[in-house]
Amino acid sequence: MIKAIMQRLGVSEASWQGGDLSVMTPVDGRVIGQVKIDTPAEVDAKITAAQSAFEQWRCVPGPRRGELVRLFGDALRRHKDDLGALVSWECGKILQEGLGEVQEMIDICDLAVGQSRQLFGLTIASERPGHHMRETWHPLGTIGLITAFNFPVAPWAWNAALALVCGNSLVWKPSEKTPLTALACQALLEQAMQDFGEDAPVGLSQVVIGEREAGEVVVKDPRVALISATGSTRMGRAVAPLVASRFGRCILELGGNNAMIVAPSADLDMAVRAILFSAVGTAGQRCTTLRRLIVHTSLREELLTRLKKSYSGIVVGHPLEGALVGPLIDADAYQNMQTALQKARDAGAKVYGGERQLEDHYPDGYYVSPAIVEMDAQTDLVRQETFAPILYVISYSTLDEAIALNNDVPQGLSSCIFTTDVREAETFVSDVGSDCGIANVNIGPSGAEIGGAFGGEKETGGGRESGSDVWKSYMRRQTNTVNYSRELPLAQGIKFD
Ligand code: NAD
Repeated sequence: MIKAIMQRLGVSEASWQGGDLSVMTPVDGRVIGQVKIDTPAEVDAKITAAQSAFEQWRCVPGPRRGELVRLFGDALRRHKDDLGALVSWECGKILQEGLGEVQEMIDICDLAVGQSRQLFGLTIASERPGHHMRETWHPLGTIGLITAFNFPVAPWAWNAALALVCGNSLVWKPSEKTPLTALACQALLEQAMQDFGEDAPVGLSQVVIGEREAGEVVVKDPRVALISATGSTRMGRAVAPLVASRFGRCILELGGNNAMIVAPSADLDMAVRAILFSAVGTAGQRCTTLRRLIVHTSLREELLTRLKKSYSGIVVGHPLEGALVGPLIDADAYQNMQTALQKARDAGAKVYGGERQLEDHYPDGYYVSPAIVEMDAQTDLVRQETFAPILYVISYSTLDEAIALNNDVPQGLSSCIFTTDVREAETFVSDVGSDCGIANVNIGPSGAEIGGAFGGEKETGGGRESGSDVWKSYMRRQTNTVNYSRELPLAQGIKFD
């Protein structure tokens, strides 16, 4: 099955068979590939190749660079089913979500193609006669990408599509748990480069295979102008100072601990559906997963009853065979979930669900029923991100209290409120409302569209990816003053003769 998919995606067998790093599918724990780990010298050589490709690629006009991304988007359209299925096999998310991830890649390609004709700057009035000022944007260099297992392809594409139209080259260190999808994306991009012709320099996009150590080589290399890193806050804490010490640039997309406030006027039917999608989807392994439900005391019992009923109908199982919730990524993830649930029980919380499922069927696959944990307060346990389907439920009495709870965690990625009261809704998205990078009204915290800037504050890292004016992060800004007069006046009226 995997072999046929990899063949159709154009991935050479040598790149994913016979290597030293085993790739396991969380579906049943089987080894589905053996990739070769790059040595530090090999990583260095890949950065050298990308840097040399950058020097040629920056000379290709922006709209023409957009044509490469258009061809890549077309390749993704043609191969959506295979790549989506590979995502499901490799990281365990259900097929609908695997396909959704590939659609996000297609969407960002479309956005980047349009952007390739709009890499525009400003003209600025000069105080000096016969002078003209402007602000221009230029390609930045080699972009280093580090990605997480749970979104193995879309975050790479958010960065890659924009970085390419902005005139940069790429070095990608995917998660060691999901290298096959990375090799598949690389193969599709190489096909697009072939279709594009010789303007696309060899080496424009590189994939580095390995664990943390391989990532560190990319992070430390001064030739890599920007590091865009997606993963845990722990990873960001290690990466950020290394990049800062060489004055490199960083985009950090780290952990989240996302909340939903359910206000007295909320449409509960909508809220329950939104909770289900965002709390149990991807088996609770989205950065934007709903982890905290802040519910008005007057609704707590009713909402809990309805949620438990919905949770009891969730089909947990094989992600490519119609289940709603697939497996956790591995045994460690399962252990972390059980540890968190035990701590909650020890602290007196009521725990619903959370048990291992299908163990007889898949002894090496870690399937769980999603858990609801009824808390009396927002404790330290709730403040940390446990990357599993655990929904903590806390109650509130006033909106101020609810917003304070929403903000009282170290992370600041996504948030939302369910209310039909316009005052509450507007307060939530105002200066004194949610402190997160994403704040939604009457939709859940996950499932963002690519048109907006994606990212979060505080320990989520402060980075933004995807739409809005994010393209500017992949370019270097230059201020130009052009004197077209025959005089040389100084600014601020300074006389120097
Ligand atoms: P992880 O931090 O374990 O690994 C992420 C990547 O960083 C991997 O490629 C890993 O090899 C690499 N890495 C780890 N330490 C490194 C170091 N010191 N130097 C260089 N590279 C290093 O994360 P994970 O378990 O793969 O993913 C889950 C985490 O990612 C969760 O915390 C989740 O919230 C977060 N995440 C955030 C976003 C976002 O956009 N904010 C998106 C997806 C996932």
